[in-house]
Amino acid sequence: MVEECSDPKCPVHGALRVRGTVRQAKVVRSKERNSATVEIPRIQKVRKYGRFEKRRSRLHVHVPKCMKVEEGESVEIGECRKLSKTKSHVIVKKV
Ligand SMILES: [Zn+2]
Repeated sequence: MVEECSDPKCPVHGALRVRGTVRQAKVVRSKERNSATVEIPRIQKVRKYGRFEKRRSRLHVHVPKCMKVEEGESVEIGECRKLSKTKSHVIVKKV
């Protein structure tokens, strides 16, 4: 990015270390200043009916200063240390 990034919670320019799983997710809410909400769909089998049901989990993720995300975009998120009460993931890159 051309812009200078001074965010210490940036996985590229800051001191934040990403560890654990890296997963793809879809941005469903990006109105907060440094955060976004992402959704990860998954499929669960229902034994009783022998069919599958859709489930989804929503996560709060940190958006580094050098990144701008919009709702509907696909991003890759990585697990990191706890950044706030509800945030322990950060956006690594766009997909
Ligand atoms: Zn950065």
